[in-house]
Amino acid sequence: MLNVVIFGAPGSGKGTQSEKLIEKYGLKHVSTGDLLRAEIKGKSQLGQMAESYMSKGQLVPDEVVIGMLEGLVQRNGHVKGFIFDGFPRTLAQGEALDAMLTKYNEKVNVVLSLEVEDEELIVRLLKRGEISGRSDDNRETIESRLRVYYNQTAPLKDFYEEQGKLVRIPGQGSIDDIFASMATVLDRITV
Ligand code: AMP
Repeated sequence: MLNVVIFGAPGSGKGTQSEKLIEKYGLKHVSTGDLLRAEIKGKSQLGQMAESYMSKGQLVPDEVVIGMLEGLVQRNGHVKGFIFDGFPRTLAQGEALDAMLTKYNEKVNVVLSLEVEDEELIVRLLKRGEISGRSDDNRETIESRLRVYYNQTAPLKDFYEEQGKLVRIPGQGSIDDIFASMATVLDRITV
């Protein structure tokens, strides 16, 4: 399996680039944000609980997100690999992901970290809010999500750097150029 974590702040282009990577490499896309939004849409209990965090730009508790992923990984043992988008977001989630994959003799092969300046992130997210109508793409929630990113999520970079898995990708420029940088990294990995 080729297991890729696509890492970066909100608005760094994780979703956009994931779509392109899936197409080229035939990986299974796992976006915890999408999974949570589907739960909200389906008005499930989990969705209602998650919404109370998401609307404030806070993280949904680790055990909820980890529980959601465990089943998914188990059900998809046959895929070529996963692309984890928006997960892990805390150190505990990073450790849980390693444990989950180890059970199947698998591992995270590479972490592609999209590096984008804050001002650009804010502009992108505000624009996305106008188009997609995502309720958490408003200025107040965006600021809270960025704070959460720097406090809780960014420390994972050290975690992956220590494992020699972190590759920083400049995330400003054309979508195709950014994609090409990622593809160059992935094409060098043999699994
Ligand atoms: P995203 O679509 O990845 O930007 O996620 C939107 C929101 O869903 C985040 O601001 C969090 O509230 C929640 N969320 C998504 N993924 C996670 C995760 N791995 N851990 C905790 N909360 C998450």
